[in-house]
Amino acid sequence: LKKGFNQPLRLAKIDELIDIEDSRVQVAELDDVSRWIELAINNIPCFAPHVNDLLKMEEYFDESGLEGDDLHLWRAYRNLFAQRYAGVYDDILEVTDIIASDMFNHFVRHPLVKNSKSRFASGTIPFTFLGRTEDYYYTYTHDMERPVAVISIPQGRVSSVWNWLAIPHEIGHNIFSHFMDFEKDIWEKIRRALSHSRFVINPKKMKKMSGKKVIRTIWHFWLEETIADVFGILFTGPSFVMSRQDDAIKAANQAGSVNSSIWDIDQMLMTKHPTAFLRPLLGSVMLREIGFRDEADRLDERWYNTYPEMKENPELIWVDDKEVEKTELLTIPLDEMLRSFEKIVDIVLYHRLGCLNDSLLTDIIRFDNPDYVIAKVVAMELLEGTCEFARTVKPRHLLAASRIAFETDPENADLIHNSAIQGLIHFKKHHSD
Ligand SMILES: [Zn+2]
Repeated sequence: LKKGFNQPLRLAKIDELIDIEDSRVQVAELDDVSRWIELAINNIPCFAPHVNDLLKMEEYFDESGLEGDDLHLWRAYRNLFAQRYAGVYDDILEVTDIIASDMFNHFVRHPLVKNSKSRFASGTIPFTFLGRTEDYYYTYTHDMERPVAVISIPQGRVSSVWNWLAIPHEIGHNIFSHFMDFEKDIWEKIRRALSHSRFVINPKKMKKMSGKKVIRTIWHFWLEETIADVFGILFTGPSFVMSRQDDAIKAANQAGSVNSSIWDIDQMLMTKHPTAFLRPLLGSVMLREIGFRDEADRLDERWYNTYPEMKENPELIWVDDKEVEKTELLTIPLDEMLRSFEKIVDIVLYHRLGCLNDSLLTDIIRFDNPDYVIAKVVAMELLEGTCEFARTVKPRHLLAASRIAFETDPENADLIHNSAIQGLIHFKKHHSD
């Protein structure tokens, strides 16, 4: 028997144990970074050309540690590596990457934003990721030059090209979060514009807040999602709103109501997405602003016919659902919400933004009539099974065209999907730089 075995049990100070344990966890986390980066370099073909960038990434996390924002950023990268390594979705990711690169590069490499500050390194490569990453919830405070942008695509309906109209929206999130001062610049202007108007609201349980303050608070909560939709429309035009209607019906079914939103008054939290019934109508307002009046009218007609109860006395409702019994806080006439949005859309599309080197957003991206003509012609060709297009037909046109074709002839969904996929791969092989 070993000497001393029958001594009384010795227990360390618990603080000391926790300290030592914490430092071991930190070392293990950084070791985790090295393991995944090594995997990416050696075993994931799409990362092979980016060895130096990945090593820089490792160096960065080595110095900064994995806390707060950095931990979320790292998890987004790790999820990306894992999905690419698994290879299960390679056929889809190959094509979604083509669409994302087209739009992402168009924006970040645009000469007008050459001197704008963003968190992207000069040659940042966008990689799509199917599913949610933690990435887009956070605005990073550090200034790492990010060699890789993770573009998350909701995984639910990856089976059809026209559902990838979510990609331009997600690119919008990326730009919103990673161009320095984008949010600040744009919100400053919107706040000022809204403060010059009066708005009618109908308070129920909620008192003590002026119409102006209510409207301003709502738009502040909705700002990022709305801007992401602006990107969707500026990249793909009317097709984006067609698909937005689809999504809004699903959102309304999930929420159990098309015209109400949740507002937790104590925590001052609200749903981040505009009310389901309103959201496609915001899209139509934007379409009219960029010259698609007829298309917007047709889309609104279909939308109101989908929810005939919203035709008379249409209003939006905000409820606090913390208690068993939901509390109706206030209602706002739909027209009043749309009127407030008209002020916002003008600023977003046609005001110079400091963060974009004093350019207009619409100087950098804009879906105009020639784009629409291309999309409509390509839509007809997709329905004929054509899958090779000229260089002028960009992936964003193909994306828009796939939706137009699907709307025109839904029975031919398979043909449209397959032709569009082939068309995108043809673009990558023959026309991409
Ligand atoms: Zn979003």
